[in-house]
Parts: sequence; structure tokens; C-alpha cells
Amino acid sequence: ATPTALMVGTGRGAQLGILIKGPEVLEQTRTVDTIVLDKTGTVTTGEMTLADTHVAAGEDPAFVLRMAGALEDASEHPIARAIADAAREAGALGQVEDFANIEGLGVQGIVDGHAVLVGRPQLLDQWSQYLDERLQAAFDEATGRGQTAVAVGWDGQARAVLVVADRVKDTSAEAIRRMRDLGLRPILLTGDNERVAHTVAGQVGIDAADVYAEVLPADKVDVVTRLQADGRVVAMVGDGVNDAAALAQADLGLAMGTGTDVAIEASDITLVRGDLRVAGDAIRLSRRTLGVIK
Ligand code: ADP
Ligand code: MG
Repeated sequence: ATPTALMVGTGRGAQLGILIKGPEVLEQTRTVDTIVLDKTGTVTTGEMTLADTHVAAGEDPAFVLRMAGALEDASEHPIARAIADAAREAGALGQVEDFANIEGLGVQGIVDGHAVLVGRPQLLDQWSQYLDERLQAAFDEATGRGQTAVAVGWDGQARAVLVVADRVKDTSAEAIRRMRDLGLRPILLTGDNERVAHTVAGQVGIDAADVYAEVLPADKVDVVTRLQADGRVVAMVGDGVNDAAALAQADLGLAMGTGTDVAIEASDITLVRGDLRVAGDAIRLSRRTLGVIK
């Protein structure tokens, strides 16, 4: 493409809410054949609310929220915001000491003198805090519906399961159809539970074989590297929460403009409005500018 065509292409992109870092980015769109999609905040809205509170026999839901909410108040995770907001509405939060975020697993700390954990059941398992039959059933039921569930425990015992509702964006299924039309193979990547990931994949038309779930933040980049080692040319769309390294590793990184500054920094293209349909549009526009397609 001529320099003028490139400028027209990037100018047209800006009108559509597609910010392209430089003309060299267009070239990367030519051979891309795979598009990795981060789940939370990319395929789903990432705006979570507390949907259900399940407690073990003898536990008080208000006390569970006081404990869990206090810890989550110190975390930036969308799950944490949902729990802290609901807890604040229900009453006062406990006093936190020794807060720690355990990336990809949850949070821990001392609340009102109790050692509290909130996160994946695997995190509680590490402290021999196991969900009883009822809590396990509540967990399985929620995750089977595609909802995210986290466990709450303190003083050596699992006490509750909190169900957080995120939802698939109305535009995600269409966005993924458009990607397929461009010859791209969509892949879902998430730290969330296998069942949630497969339910969401089914809702948006991603093949079960192309779901990578329960991937720790530090391992997301390895998924991209492995696909590249298999000869795939990889685009990745993310919001920068836990996926900035993977965005940077991808042959073409696309940041949701609604995401973090880190994402925008690590990416080649920013989708200003956070509309996933525009990801395919950006690749189509770039290819058209290069004269690869009409
Ligand atoms: P995603 O890839 O969907 O953005 P993350 O890697 O951020 O997910 O988190 C993976 C999982 O770890 C979450 O689904 C949740 O079960 C647990 N988790 C992470 N942070 C928290 C937190 N602050 N509170 C509770 N659970 C958490
Ligand atoms: Mg994320």
C-alpha cells in the first residue's frame, strides 16, 4: 500500500473508534489466523453483581458478607467489587489486617481477628478448607449456568459460596461470527472455572476444543506462545486485567478501550468503545488498506 493509503486507512479507523499505533501494525493483520479472547471484560461485560449467597449450616449470611466484603474491598478484581459493594449495602465491613492478593486464586487476610480466604475452591483446599456437599452443589450449579462462584472460609473451615453474575455482551456472538468470516479461529482464554468457560464459549459460538480455562495470569502468555510455536499467527483481545503480557506477546494485540492503561500500552490497536465487533472490523479495514481484500 502507498503511504497515502495507509494514512487514509488509519484515519478511517479513528472515525470507527479504532486507534492504530502505527502503519507497521497494518502489516501484522495480513497473516493473522487465530484470535485469542480474554473472557472477563472482553467477551463478557465484566460488570459483576452479587447474585446469590449460599452458607453452610449455622452460618449467618450477613456475617459472611462482613468478612468477605472487608477483604474484597482491598482488591481491584471485578469479582471483588461486586462482593464489596453488596457487603457495604448489607452493613459494616470488618477490620482488615495482613491483606494479600493471590493472583488468579483469590484474596486472604485477617478480618476482625479471623483468618479469612475468598477465592477459588483450590485456594481454600490449600488450607484444608473443603466445601461441604451443599456448598459444592451450589458451586457446581452456578458454574454450570456460566456464573462465577467463589468460596469463603475462615478459621479452618469453608463457610459459604458467593455467586457473582457477569453476562455475555449482547454483541459477542455476532463479533465472533465476523471473526470467522475473516478466516480467524476464535479461542477463549480465562482464569475462571472450566464449566463457566465452556458455558460462555457455547453462548458465543467458540468450539469446546478452543477453550483454555483455569489459566493463571502468569501462564496466559504461554498459551499465546504455544499457539505461535504451532505455527499460528495470533491476535489477542484483552482488557489488561491479568493479560497485558499475553497482549504484548501476540502478533497483533487489541486492547478494549474500556480496559486498563496497561492494556492500551501493550497493544497495537485500541478499540475505543470496547465493542468486540470492532475487533474484526479493525482487521478487515487494515487488510483492505493493504489491498489484501476489497
Ligand atoms: P479472568 O481470566 O476471567 O479475568 P482471573 O485470572 O482474574 O480471571 O481470576 C481467576 C479466578 O480466580 C476467578 O474466577 C476467581 O475464582 C479467583 N479470583 C481472583 N481474584 C479474586 C478475588 N479478588 N476474589 C475472589 N476470587 C478471585
Ligand atoms: Mg481479565
